[in-house]
Amino acid sequence: MNRITIKSPGQIEKMRVAGSLVGRTLEYVGSLISVGVSTYELDREAEEFIRKNGGEPSFLGYNGFPASICTSVNDQVVHGIPSKKVHLRDGDIISIDCGAIVDGFHGDAARTFLVGNVDESTRKLVEVTRECFFKGAEQAVEGNHIADIARAVEAHARQHGYGVVRDLVGHGIGTDMHEPPEVPNFTDLRIGRGVKLYEGMTLAIEPMINLGTWRVVLADDGWTCSTADGSPSAHYENTVVVKKNSYEVLTNPQS
Ligand code: MG
Ligand code: MG
Repeated sequence: MNRITIKSPGQIEKMRVAGSLVGRTLEYVGSLISVGVSTYELDREAEEFIRKNGGEPSFLGYNGFPASICTSVNDQVVHGIPSKKVHLRDGDIISIDCGAIVDGFHGDAARTFLVGNVDESTRKLVEVTRECFFKGAEQAVEGNHIADIARAVEAHARQHGYGVVRDLVGHGIGTDMHEPPEVPNFTDLRIGRGVKLYEGMTLAIEPMINLGTWRVVLADDGWTCSTADGSPSAHYENTVVVKKNSYEVLTNPQS
């Protein structure tokens, strides 16, 4: 879909089903996280859970991506590839990004999980990144613009001195996993206010926040995006629907 779409109540109901599956998958995979587990095992479990519950993993094969979830550990920001060689260690953080399609509609969400005893400053980063999502989502109401979401996310992250990733952004979502408009986590004169929001628009809002610099680098695998200074990074995402005076999270906000 190369244009912004307004979803009907029936389509939003389908997105609730897909979103709920994504939320439950993340909850399930989160419950498996412990010292020693490999990111490959987490991917196997996620794929099985999605299929068993009537969905298909959106990420598998997307532009050639080889797995059903992205597993990004510590300084990896997003798009980490699950591997038999990567075993979680005490003190790690791991961002898991998951997408599923059910009956033609996608859900997309991410959580950053703590592994064992994580140091205070990194725990805080994870907590504030989650808060950034909700600050942004509160702006996802009819009549606002995309930049209102971006400004709210950015302001909360900056207040804590964190770097806000600029190279990757959130997005519209529906029958395609990535639809317009882009949903940045930063404001920029070049971008301006962005498009106006209307009830029925569905957006993946996804702050990617770094403890250090906002700058990121791409690994040789062509996927894994890491912080340029090696500092930890957190990611928190939900699929939301814009309403008249509120927003609704479709991917299980409790987790
Ligand atoms: Mg995602
Ligand atoms: Mg996304």
